[in-house]
Amino acid sequence: MFPLLKTGGLADVAGALPVALQQAGADVRVLLPGFAPVLADLEHALLVANVDSPWGSTSHLRFGRLRSSGLPAYVLDAPHYYQREGSPYEDAKRRSHADNHRRFALLGWVGAKLSHGLDKTWQPNIVHSHDWHAALTPAYAAFAGAAGAAGAAPVQVYTIHNLAYQGLFTRAQFVELGLPATAFAIQGLEFHDQMSFMKAGLFYADHLTTVSPSYAQEIQTPEQGCGLDGLLRERSACLTGILNGVDETVWDPAQDPAIVATYHAQRPQGKTRCKAALQARMGLAVQPNALLFGIVSRLTEQKGLQLVLSAVDDLLAWGGQLVVLGSGDPALEQAWRQLAIDHPGAVAVHVGYDEDLAHQVFAGTDVTLVPSRFEPCGLTQMYGLKYGSLPLVHRVGGLADTVEDCSLENLDSGRANGFVFHPFQVNALRRAIERAFALYKRSAQWRAVRAGAMRQPLGWEAAASQYMALYRSLLAK
Ligand code: ADP
Repeated sequence: MFPLLKTGGLADVAGALPVALQQAGADVRVLLPGFAPVLADLEHALLVANVDSPWGSTSHLRFGRLRSSGLPAYVLDAPHYYQREGSPYEDAKRRSHADNHRRFALLGWVGAKLSHGLDKTWQPNIVHSHDWHAALTPAYAAFAGAAGAAGAAPVQVYTIHNLAYQGLFTRAQFVELGLPATAFAIQGLEFHDQMSFMKAGLFYADHLTTVSPSYAQEIQTPEQGCGLDGLLRERSACLTGILNGVDETVWDPAQDPAIVATYHAQRPQGKTRCKAALQARMGLAVQPNALLFGIVSRLTEQKGLQLVLSAVDDLLAWGGQLVVLGSGDPALEQAWRQLAIDHPGAVAVHVGYDEDLAHQVFAGTDVTLVPSRFEPCGLTQMYGLKYGSLPLVHRVGGLADTVEDCSLENLDSGRANGFVFHPFQVNALRRAIERAFALYKRSAQWRAVRAGAMRQPLGWEAAASQYMALYRSLLAK
């Protein structure tokens, strides 16, 4: 949950959605694993209960208020699971923790206990779990309910943020988790003789959502269903796509402390200074008129950056520059480092994770590249829109739902806000890059499209009101 801990877009959503739901009138509490920054942020903590897990560990459930957001929060204080070096999932050498099945089953175990009256002073009507990490909540809750656990059964909602990360574990690990043996079945959480946390969410939750309308359709196809498309088609009547928003308290060029000059649609002059500062910081030639492309991304196969590597010679030959901020797959990190070495002054690469630099990249670039093979929602193209860095995207998932190409008809109608390519091929990408150069030459038109993009409403209000309408309809059933 941003700003406490972040590895990608899930943290941005977890940080913003509960606040937006609160503002829409919901009485929201969050449940989080007690990673060090989370516990350190928890104020006025009270012990709710000591919780024994089915595999014999004991942890402490605390309730308090998060200092960073003011949100009421339950935090699982289990230092043996959550106080470790490295990312939430991996050790400092990037190896998955051997007990991840227990670490995240515990979250679901406690989520289910809270569903069934663990806190005598507060009972949720809706329990909304996010991604595979929390996906055992509806499974445990279903079996607790069947066993006649106390408390009215709340509605279980489960959101898929990325179907490609499923939380797969072995049958032997399943046996440790205290679920009935019958759950290890096709009609359950079994996936090709493994345990899939993701599938537990998909199978046992009352309602499923995902983070864009297009992705909700795409995951029902064999191409993008990651082997779960059959189940998703069966459940399509209870699957809704709701587009994520942008947390405008964090991502707003008019009041962003991480950038050298603030600006907005009516007064975009500050963006010129941001561009010069970024070029200087990254060791690029400080040329105001060079079309500057930016990438802020996890470096994984999903993000389609291989395609950019293939098109980069043209991008540079046409006078463009490229800045990349990313981390992930060591082979991709090395490929980008090498590209920067080969093109000093024209390509700059920062391998690592740097929140402030991410803001500076959106503020300083003209175009944000997001050529993902698949993209459940994607947030960086929306940050690009807010910061007047026109997104250039592959037409897929949430990218297709948020970006309209600068085709003549879209320019004419005022819908154009970026550049869209399809199919996922280097020639299609190249042509989209060419369109970006063509529009950039028509500077008045470029400025008009950019101003329109920056004015687009992208906040969380729309998503929050759709979630509230969904919750109400589920409660009315
Ligand atoms: P995903 O969740 O698949 O990584 P999203 O586009 O939904 O993709 O969200 C990515 C989030 O992570 C954005 O907030 C983006 O700014 C941030 N991000 C990705 N890589 C980096 C990095 N190297 N440094 C800083 N922020 C990054």
